[in-house]
Amino acid sequence: SDHNLEYPASPDEVDWSAHYPAFTGSGKKPEFADVGCGFGGLLIALAPLYPDTLMLGLEIRVQVSQYVEDRIAALRAASSAPPPAQPPTAESGPASSQSTVAPGGYQNVSIVRANAMKFLPNYFSKHSLSALFFLFPDPHFKLRKHKARIISPTLLAEYAYVLRPGGVVYTITDVKDLAEWMKAHLSAFPLFESVDTETLRAEGKGPILDAVWNSTEEGKKVERNKGEKWLACFRRIELAREV
Ligand code: SAM
Repeated sequence: SDHNLEYPASPDEVDWSAHYPAFTGSGKKPEFADVGCGFGGLLIALAPLYPDTLMLGLEIRVQVSQYVEDRIAALRAASSAPPPAQPPTAESGPASSQSTVAPGGYQNVSIVRANAMKFLPNYFSKHSLSALFFLFPDPHFKLRKHKARIISPTLLAEYAYVLRPGGVVYTITDVKDLAEWMKAHLSAFPLFESVDTETLRAEGKGPILDAVWNSTEEGKKVERNKGEKWLACFRRIELAREV
């Protein structure tokens, strides 16, 4: 249950500098959102590839979100450790003036524990995201559970709101029925259109597609079990009368 969770009343109330201290004062906000990020594999894979893009995972399970938080903290600490001290030489002068600490990695990635089905617009303002990920979402097989699925007509309106026109929804699942469900709903929604992977690769989004396919913990499990995967992407289209 998410009853004991505290949520920001609006995205303006989120203190992004607490999530991304290295970007304090930059005015940047998250552009990639991984909904139900699980153990964080996608974010960890993408962070070094797009170091100037802020990314946020949303995960409802306490222990799992804590694990991802710790994982990011450890990666940041490891990548910001100063290089081994070199004794100063006559030519180079004091060590302090010659050593430049390598810029810290993973500063652009963070996580919140949140119920993304209820509170996405509390974190992301209108048209602020360029990518929204739904990777191996819980299938909720039974008919009466379908309303619990993360892709539904009501929620699609919220996803279209937080995504900027031209932004992309990435979905992948190993459950054929869910793949068909997601495709049917996203294609039927007036603000989304199916976009093929060749088009996205031509736009330079190949590394994102590869990470979606390979890097999540659930995806690796499917791979180990030699299961099938269905990947489908959708573009947030622009309507002429939208501002
Ligand atoms: N995307 C990850 C991956 O591919 O490895 C995790 C996939 S796992 C099958 C689905 C995840 O979605 C779980 O970690 C679950 O806790 C999370 N989840 C389910 N409903 C959620 C919600 N409403 N808000 C946030 N996370 C949710």
